[in-house]
Amino acid sequence: MILGLALYYKAGCSTSGKTRKEPTVNKEKTIDRHCDVLVIGSGAGGLATAITARKAGLKVIVLEKDNVFGGTTALSGGVLWIPGNAHAAARNVNDSSDAARTYLRHEAGELYDEEEIDAYLEYGPQMLNFFENETEVKFIATDYPDYHPDNPGGADIGRSVVAAPYNARALGPEIKRLRPPLESITFMGMMFNSTNRELRHFFNVTKSLTSALYVTKKLVAHFAAVMRYGRGIQITGGNALVARLAKTAFDLEIPIITGAHAQELLLTDGAVTGAKVTIDGLQAEFEANMAVVLACGGFSQNQERLKTVYPHVSRGAMHSSLAPVGNVGDGIDLAEGAGAKFAPCLSQPAAWMPASIIPGKGGRTATYPHIVDRYKPGVIAVSPEGRRFTNEANSYHDFGCAMLRECGAQPYSWLICDHRTIRKYGLGFVKPAPVPLGSHVRSGYLKKAPTLVALAKTIGVDPAALEATVELYNTDAAKGEDLEFARGSTSFNRFLGDGDHKPNPNVAPVDSAPFYAIKVVMGDIGTFDGIATDVNGHVLRPDQTAIKGLFAVGSDRMSIMGGNYPGAGITLGPAMTFGYITGRYIASSATM
Ligand SMILES: Cc1cc2nc3c(=O)[nH]c(=O)nc-3n(C[C@H](O)[C@H](O)[C@H](O)COP(=O)(O)OP(=O)(O)OC[C@H]3O[C@@H](n4cnc5c(N)ncnc54)[C@H](O)[C@@H]3O)c2cc1C
Repeated sequence: MILGLALYYKAGCSTSGKTRKEPTVNKEKTIDRHCDVLVIGSGAGGLATAITARKAGLKVIVLEKDNVFGGTTALSGGVLWIPGNAHAAARNVNDSSDAARTYLRHEAGELYDEEEIDAYLEYGPQMLNFFENETEVKFIATDYPDYHPDNPGGADIGRSVVAAPYNARALGPEIKRLRPPLESITFMGMMFNSTNRELRHFFNVTKSLTSALYVTKKLVAHFAAVMRYGRGIQITGGNALVARLAKTAFDLEIPIITGAHAQELLLTDGAVTGAKVTIDGLQAEFEANMAVVLACGGFSQNQERLKTVYPHVSRGAMHSSLAPVGNVGDGIDLAEGAGAKFAPCLSQPAAWMPASIIPGKGGRTATYPHIVDRYKPGVIAVSPEGRRFTNEANSYHDFGCAMLRECGAQPYSWLICDHRTIRKYGLGFVKPAPVPLGSHVRSGYLKKAPTLVALAKTIGVDPAALEATVELYNTDAAKGEDLEFARGSTSFNRFLGDGDHKPNPNVAPVDSAPFYAIKVVMGDIGTFDGIATDVNGHVLRPDQTAIKGLFAVGSDRMSIMGGNYPGAGITLGPAMTFGYITGRYIASSATM
């Protein structure tokens, strides 16, 4: 059914998937606003649900309020944590759902939800097979250990897979609507695989002919693509995942309507039957026969809600989320409007990410996620008092939890290293040699001083405390040990260290002047607290009854991990698995 109001949307939104010569030109087009399933949000949660429902024969529309599709997912590493996946089995990795269950029971503690975890472990591998066999979405195995591999049921390898790299040319004109990757983690717009192998070539570019040739070839191909398409086309991680999901959606004639902001749900006799949407300033009503699915990506950018849910923000501390600015919790607001009640209850409300703020031109800033540097030998972190406070080679979430515990009411910390280390590995947004680092010192992002005492004075830390901290660390580091915090003690620590650095890939002294520091503030990569649902994704009222016709997936739905972060991919894994479960459930209810 095509409703009367004529709307305008980008020609690239074509439901037919046919290529057009001028995709960015606005063309008048009447939008079909009637469907079986209306999905609000175009990240992994929304697209996985949309594709599953469409494959089951339903008519699906995806709304996206931004002018690009992909949400946080497009900025992510594209890693999914799926215990028992076929890629691990093909590598003869021994895993069992009992071991994964034990691990998750340990990780989630009192918040362990047996029904949800059972569904996750059963349908996760099935979801992967479905997407790999029936869509453009493909994955490859990774060597990631779990983040707490020594805990009961933990695994040293096998549970995380990553989206296979993709040539975004396959999207045709739609490439223009694919959210670009985070600029702060690309190198001149170029993307890397989420494994250590490719980065190692960049670290070794001045020392190995093979690495120099590899890097040169990559740069030449990248700049040729930028000239032709306006962006890099050899994409990896979450950008590749979204491109693959979107290609599938377009092939299946699922429209992804960008610039479409869902603002209110339509209710008929208590059941959700559609949404009021603003598109290019015009109001429209979209009707859904069977379901509206909230997939708005959580509330990381809602400053008012953060004040009530993030303890450090309530105390006025700096916080910088990596999620897109549009992720302001619309899904939660919409659910509450239909009778749900947001009740944060997890041990941590979000997936923490230590972040630094990169000053840019005209007062603009960018946020850098400290994903890989903390693990490298010779990089340590100190509190505002100048003491080490954690094993820096633990996961970003664990590092964030340690900052919340140990770095004051308004937590921040400093990453510190010496000249040898920063030139070898870089630090934060500062790249290794031969890329110059002077501009970062001049911008104030990177603090530099000839001695530790001078560095301490520059960053406002007690010089005696910093000297004592580094002296204690160096004494053990000379032997490749860290008796204070056990860096290098787990397979996960070592995985992101430097395997060529002996005897401990995570430990080297901090002793070769000059010295450097970068300020690290609290950040997140998405929220854990979310809307309460049943296992099929039905949004629940406070009395646990389901709101008819309303579902939530992805970060809008409360995390099943209890506020903990067991391994690489524990948000995208459930986002796609429960998207698959919800899509199938909605389709099966059509035949009930
Ligand atoms: C740097 C980084 C790396 C990460 N790496 C990983 C990783 O490797 N593995 C992992 O598991 N997790 C990772 N994450 C976290 C992961 O990306 C998110 O948890 C996940 O993408 C959330 O998916 P989603 O579908 O719920 O939401 P999103 O992908 O954020 O999509 C939500 C979309 O909904 C849209 N929207 C919001 N409100 C409305 C509205 N009212 N109307 C219409 N549209 C709306 C938004 O604009 C957005 O595009 C990473 C995150 C970051 C920032």
